[in-house]
Amino acid sequence: MISRKTNTGAAPQWNGDPAAALASARHEFGEHGGVNMSIEASATFTVMEPETMRRMFAGELGPDRDFFIYSRHFNPTVLNLGRLMAALEGTEAAYCTASGMSAISSVLLQLCSSGGHIVASTALYGGTHALLTHFLPRACNITTTFVNIGDVSAVKNAIVEGKTKVLYFESISNPTLTVANIPELSGVAHEKGVKVVVDNTFAPMVLSPARLGADVVVHSITKFISGGADMIAGAVCGPAWLVNSMMDLHQGALMLLGPTMNPKVAFELSERIPHLGLRMKEHCARALAFATRLKKLGLRVIYPGLEDHPQHHLLKSMANKEYGYGGLLCVDMETEERANRFMNILQNHAQFGFMAVSLGYYETLMSCSGSSTSSEMSPEEKALAGISPGLVRMSVGYVGTLDQKWSQLEKALSVLHEYGLPIKN
Ligand SMILES: *Cc1c(COP(=O)(O)O)cnc(C)c1O
Repeated sequence: MISRKTNTGAAPQWNGDPAAALASARHEFGEHGGVNMSIEASATFTVMEPETMRRMFAGELGPDRDFFIYSRHFNPTVLNLGRLMAALEGTEAAYCTASGMSAISSVLLQLCSSGGHIVASTALYGGTHALLTHFLPRACNITTTFVNIGDVSAVKNAIVEGKTKVLYFESISNPTLTVANIPELSGVAHEKGVKVVVDNTFAPMVLSPARLGADVVVHSITKFISGGADMIAGAVCGPAWLVNSMMDLHQGALMLLGPTMNPKVAFELSERIPHLGLRMKEHCARALAFATRLKKLGLRVIYPGLEDHPQHHLLKSMANKEYGYGGLLCVDMETEERANRFMNILQNHAQFGFMAVSLGYYETLMSCSGSSTSSEMSPEEKALAGISPGLVRMSVGYVGTLDQKWSQLEKALSVLHEYGLPIKN
């Protein structure tokens, strides 16, 4: 096999823009000189000498020197996407998984043993919340204390020295859009020897949690990074020791639980990462425009880009410049009935977007979080996390022109008005 590889030098200095770091990541060329790398679809890999097999299993020869054993372990195409994810998040290493949930569960199982303890934010994606509340205690004797991460002393008090292994939170929370103070929380955790794992699904390019002190960044690639709403995928970005330990033949959560990414999926995703920055800028610009205009009409809007958002200045101080404040906004319609009517009109009268869960698609996706992605939570847990029954979460798309989409949104609001539903506070 002939492979031409460039840009293998040391990582460049961080200049505050993940796009620059991505451009300096090693570029793999195809076997025939193609500007795209070839897809390595093989499940298994041959060796020229029997001795090589022994040395690979002994860990003497590995993927860093282009020696591969089996694709549940390392695969060249998946590893290439991992290198891009590491460059994006500014971590030493990264590896990709079959879903966001498998990235999250594998990293927690790698960092915690039976009897271990996690401190986590009350405001989390419903699936993660269920994993921590129900699955990990039952199956693994790993328990979690949930705290409001806006209260740093509560976080400090929840950490049990020697027992707590992980502080877990989302950079921008799903669906409430609260922003975590990553440097401060990382400082508190590190003082007590606790690892910080941050889910950055809502804010790729916008925030770089590892640059702000986090140890590990996890992603549901399914969302913005893919951008096509056509694949389920995830990644764990972190120090090389962690990624390598997850691949260990005897003790590795990724190796042994096997949530492997298909190399054909990895190839497709690696073709989308170069335009992630352009897409994020447009998602964010549209979300800011809609949030500003909806608020002016008197609706209750939650968007971290608005001055009145409680963490607006915090986000501004942490964010990478010129990407914006995220592609999601929430409108609180107060009751589920009003939320449903609003979404129904938006989709079926105004053609504004789709009623669907998920996010990061080029079309606008909207869902009533309390009765969908956060329905795993009890009413009390939802209240604690600040999820109102009428909360409509919108992942703002970028198809069409801004004016065209705004006039659709205005039309939906006027229909809502005809139903006698007040749109003002
Ligand atoms: C969707 C999502 C996940 C789960 O990712 P999958 O790819 O669906 O497994 C985890 N965290 C957040 C914040 C999400 O939005």
